[in-house]
Amino acid sequence: MEGISRRTFGKTLAGGTVGGLLTTAFAPAFSATGGSIQKKKLGIALVGLGSYSTYQLAPALQETKYCYLAGAVTGTPSKEVQWQKKYGIDPTHIYTYETFDRIAEDDDVDIVYIVLPNSMHAEFSIRAAKAGKHVICEKPMAMTVAECDAIIEACKAAGVTLGVGYRLHSEPYTREIQRMVRENTIGDINFVSADAAYMSRGNPDQWRLNKALSGGGALMNMGVYSIQSCIYGCGKNPVSVSAQEFSTRPDYFKDTDETITAQFEFPGGTVAQMMTSHNANANRLYASGSGGWFELNPANNYGPLSGQSSEGPISFPHESQQKLQMDDFAKHILFGSPNLAPGEMGRRDMVIVEAIYRSIREGGRRIALDLPQGYGFAKRS
Ligand code: NAD
Repeated sequence: MEGISRRTFGKTLAGGTVGGLLTTAFAPAFSATGGSIQKKKLGIALVGLGSYSTYQLAPALQETKYCYLAGAVTGTPSKEVQWQKKYGIDPTHIYTYETFDRIAEDDDVDIVYIVLPNSMHAEFSIRAAKAGKHVICEKPMAMTVAECDAIIEACKAAGVTLGVGYRLHSEPYTREIQRMVRENTIGDINFVSADAAYMSRGNPDQWRLNKALSGGGALMNMGVYSIQSCIYGCGKNPVSVSAQEFSTRPDYFKDTDETITAQFEFPGGTVAQMMTSHNANANRLYASGSGGWFELNPANNYGPLSGQSSEGPISFPHESQQKLQMDDFAKHILFGSPNLAPGEMGRRDMVIVEAIYRSIREGGRRIALDLPQGYGFAKRS
């Protein structure tokens, strides 16, 4: 490792140029005195200390094996103090949105995790990449496909790795149905149905109902789970989509979509239908194949999920999905295991989101999708 700083070394590994060194550099080894040397853990800084960071990500980072909570970025001074106390983060690893770029000099932070309103994902992901940090960006990846492209380009230019916060790709029930699809367990998939919805109540000025901050309503929030379910439920990317929008509470959902339904056509004629809403409760993935069926219900929440299939019950012990997700991303960087939710997957979903909104604007017209096949079915190694 002579002549290579810790930061440059990590990035070079992630870029794959010295992949052969991976296992020797980080595999458990023994010191000259016979004691075992600890495996390296990557430091994560959370950007945006709202509800997802506070109640899911930070607690999960107390359980992770390959990464830990190393820093935080917040615009609220009282949170700086709370987080220092609660998690023992040294003040030198806490930044504001204004001082954020100084994180480039912070060798304890390897990964920056963007957990801000959707309109801020692109700006902070790009700033993180320019600071030389690996990036996890929450879903939806950005407001537009053009923003996704800009994030992907910035990460490529900086030689850092990009992942999307699609926690379900690390979640055992989801991985089991991905396996069933990959291994053709229920035969050829002919039909998929996926719903992801919850009832939004309370402050009508919240950022999720403000299009300038969210980019859209239910579709930009829970809708990406329905899209993802349709895709991994049949194991292919769709070739076209038609969509419809409905509202029963236009006084509350003034600026953003309340309920959207969409139908996808897949190569070979498989059909999938999805629903997403901020004014209904639904949480389900069902698929029917030539030799059977499977269902997850619930399919999208923080777990435990529940599932069954024509082969029998699907059952796994519960573990924090966020813990599994962040460890999978860290393992990708440390050991070259698959990146289960790369930036290209987040971009693909934004292509579909844009096509759904376009179909609605054009009266439900079928919009052709020009997507490469093959994302999202990586085996965890
Ligand atoms: P939240 O409203 O609880 O937190 C948002 C944070 O951003 C707050 O700390 C807030 O202070 C900060 N912020 C900075 N500028 C802001 C502005 N102009 N307006 C509003 N807030 C501002 O939101 P959240 O639920 O933590 O969601 C954050 C991101 O995480 C979103 O992109 C959301 O889609 C995603 N998310 C993902 C999951 C998941 O399961 N993967 C779950 C929840 C949220």
